[in-house]
Amino acid sequence: MDDYDPESLSLDEAQKRIAQAVAAVDESEWVDLWQAVGRIAAADVHSPSTVPAHNNSAMDGYAVRRSDLKAKKQETVKLRKAGTALAGKPFDGAVAAGECVRIMTGAVMPAGCDTVVIQEHAREDGQSVAIGDGHRLGQNVRLAGEDIKIHDKIIERGKKISAADIGLLASVGLSKIEVWRQVRCAIFSSGDELRPVGSTLASGQLYDSNRYTLHGMLCSLPVDILNLGIVADSRKALEEAFAQARDADVIVSSGGVSVGEADFTKEVMESLGAVDFWKVAIKPGRPFAFGKIGRSFYFGLPGNPVSVMVTFTILVQPALHKMGGQIPKPPLLLNAQCLDPLRKRPGRVEFQRGVMAMEKQTGGKISYTVRKTGQQGSGVLQSMARANCFIVLEEDRSEVEAGSMVRIMPLAG
Ligand code: AMP
Ligand code: MG
Repeated sequence: MDDYDPESLSLDEAQKRIAQAVAAVDESEWVDLWQAVGRIAAADVHSPSTVPAHNNSAMDGYAVRRSDLKAKKQETVKLRKAGTALAGKPFDGAVAAGECVRIMTGAVMPAGCDTVVIQEHAREDGQSVAIGDGHRLGQNVRLAGEDIKIHDKIIERGKKISAADIGLLASVGLSKIEVWRQVRCAIFSSGDELRPVGSTLASGQLYDSNRYTLHGMLCSLPVDILNLGIVADSRKALEEAFAQARDADVIVSSGGVSVGEADFTKEVMESLGAVDFWKVAIKPGRPFAFGKIGRSFYFGLPGNPVSVMVTFTILVQPALHKMGGQIPKPPLLLNAQCLDPLRKRPGRVEFQRGVMAMEKQTGGKISYTVRKTGQQGSGVLQSMARANCFIVLEEDRSEVEAGSMVRIMPLAG
């Protein structure tokens, strides 16, 4: 039976229970655009202006009245150059019939002109500009409001703000945006055997790498991290850590939830809050605690480094998205041909580490292949560092033969 456990909650059920329990923080703040990337919009944003504000030239050339140009083939007209329009320095005069204006990209279209002829299609000789046939009315002109009209919705509530978004906000003249406050997340590592990096290890000790991994995964989320360090395997130490984390919205720890230690962490949870569930039918990551400590949600991740990454990705991250006010989106899953045979037992969902690649077939059709990253033990962080996707093997699935189709979940980045 390997490590099959009939008491484990199914992954679907665990995800449902977490999603039902947590709610968005519901407090917002205004931040400067310089600080806004990665934050979540707390309200729709409507443009206070029109972009571009004026009709302007898309090219360097000559602004003309289309009606002045000859329609017939091979015929050339000579227009009188009335002046110059530069970006930021418009031509103020009026352009009469038979006249044109030298214009640069981004310059406002002079009154009376409707078309731009690129400089390569014109010959300037003193004040006279010769232009041939074949020009379309309105060519090379960007119209006012072509990009954004006043009052257009430019950002949706719940959107994670990107570099393009802050550029967009600046382009309409806004310097701040209202975002949800960051989720306060406390993290700690549990275990008497753990030592901080930089110290010397005695026999049986190991470096606390999980807090770095957790910190790294939290860095791409809109959270405020409270790093509580290493906590010893004792009731008192655990209670003290939870007391320090009392203002956090979420507490995430690793280690100390396996069988043997479980009763102990469970006891503390029961006395300070409530246990919702304890085991999930996934591999790696079966011991996984979810519940409340005071007003904070508590996620007790297993100690194995790969289990930390798997359980964080599939169980904690979606909760943080919801608490942070983000529009929910299901994880991206793709079909891929698995080039290696995989070991698997039915009864739990497995997340194996894979390297996916895109294959272009004749006819331009795109498909994906995936290979495993080698040794798949739950402690092998190297396999995780090499992976660019999880191979997600369904609960009822058994061994995978080389060449069969599997589902893959690409990892961020
Ligand atoms: P536990 O869930 O506490 O039984 O931990 C399982 C195993 O995970 C331990 O034996 C350690 O090898 C490893 N482990 C636990 N915590 C950490 C940590 N913070 N950093 C790296 N490895 C850890
Ligand atoms: Mg332990």
